[in-house]
Amino acid sequence: MASTAAPATSKRVNLRTPEVMEAVQAAVESHYHSPMVEKLRGAGGVMKFGDVTVRLAKQFGFCYGVERAIDLAYAARKVFADRDLYLVGEIIHNPEVNAQLAAMGIRNLTGKGAALEVDRLGPDDVVIIPAFGAEVSVQERIRERGCQIVDTTCGDVMSVWKRVRQYANDGVTSIIHGKADHEETRATSSRARPASGGSGHFLVVYDLAETDVVCGYIRAGGDKETFLERFRSSCSPGFDPELHLQKIGVANQTTMLRSETEEVQSRLRDAVTARDGSDENFRVFDTICGATQERQDALIDLLKSPPDLMLVVGGYNSSNTTHLADMGKEKAPTYFVLNASCLESPQAIRHFDTHRREEVVAADWLPPGPVTVGITAGASCPSNLIEDVLRRLLELRGIPLDTGGAAAGQV
Ligand code: SF4
Repeated sequence: MASTAAPATSKRVNLRTPEVMEAVQAAVESHYHSPMVEKLRGAGGVMKFGDVTVRLAKQFGFCYGVERAIDLAYAARKVFADRDLYLVGEIIHNPEVNAQLAAMGIRNLTGKGAALEVDRLGPDDVVIIPAFGAEVSVQERIRERGCQIVDTTCGDVMSVWKRVRQYANDGVTSIIHGKADHEETRATSSRARPASGGSGHFLVVYDLAETDVVCGYIRAGGDKETFLERFRSSCSPGFDPELHLQKIGVANQTTMLRSETEEVQSRLRDAVTARDGSDENFRVFDTICGATQERQDALIDLLKSPPDLMLVVGGYNSSNTTHLADMGKEKAPTYFVLNASCLESPQAIRHFDTHRREEVVAADWLPPGPVTVGITAGASCPSNLIEDVLRRLLELRGIPLDTGGAAAGQV
């Protein structure tokens, strides 16, 4: 409830009691579990349904960080049943999961459709910090309001924060490979500033093209104004490329593509070495999380023998899912779908074009005759959505799912 009451101190409350977690597990299972996906996983990920062979990546869907965040949000709803619950942004990048939380009365505090201004929160309000974390200034304002905070920030995200804080304390500029407007990267870059005084700065590079601009400046300088214009919304206030590219440390958003992150690191190291004659002024720490890595590795494995087409399921604003879709596209026709409704007919599929950043329609995507379909899903996609997509795929081929699939062995 909105309040102008004096701020109070947030109390520590153990949400994860056995009794609460038992109820949480039951609710989470009923909302997101899929016996069919489990059956497919149990069959080694490969099953035949009529003339459709389905190959599921060995690692897909919800990661440990997302599972924990959802568990804690559900537990908060149960423990604070009679209090107003707010969420800083989205808990994860999946609209179906976010809609489920909204249906449970957990309301958005920031972003589109925000239910309340942070400055109107009161001590009775409960605020959930999502798996990506939140910016330092937002967390401080919430703390000042004396709210009960339920922090679901993933441990892997906190590892990145530790790294950039260290860079800041050592006067090293953090070069963050990520999307400047992604919640996680905003939270991380807010920690690349020293706690008080000091000279910590940050610069976010999204891709190799931006990395090359930074490398060019490191090697040979350039026009400062042009540089600052290009990175206007992705560098710290007061950033000066003459001063703040002297000592750099690389970190990355946890969900980037590993191969690209390694290339970013390598190009920046080479640039510093070319300028200084050594890499003494260069630091690096790989912060791709284990779950992202496992999903990328599992897809690489699946694509060693490319299927006729790939379906990648997940939220369109999900960074790790976008990278899976881009990886798929290199080896097979790949469709990044939000949910089963995207599979309109064998002639039309709505899918997200990761380069145009918009949903498009592809024609004649499902060929007649025997077909092998690869499936994977991002770390924020629940199994029930994967099942829906699979059911719809088989429906379009006129195969009743209830006939059950036959394990097909590794294809
Ligand atoms: S994708 Fe990685 S960093 Fe993000 S919540 Fe999952 S485990 Fe944590």
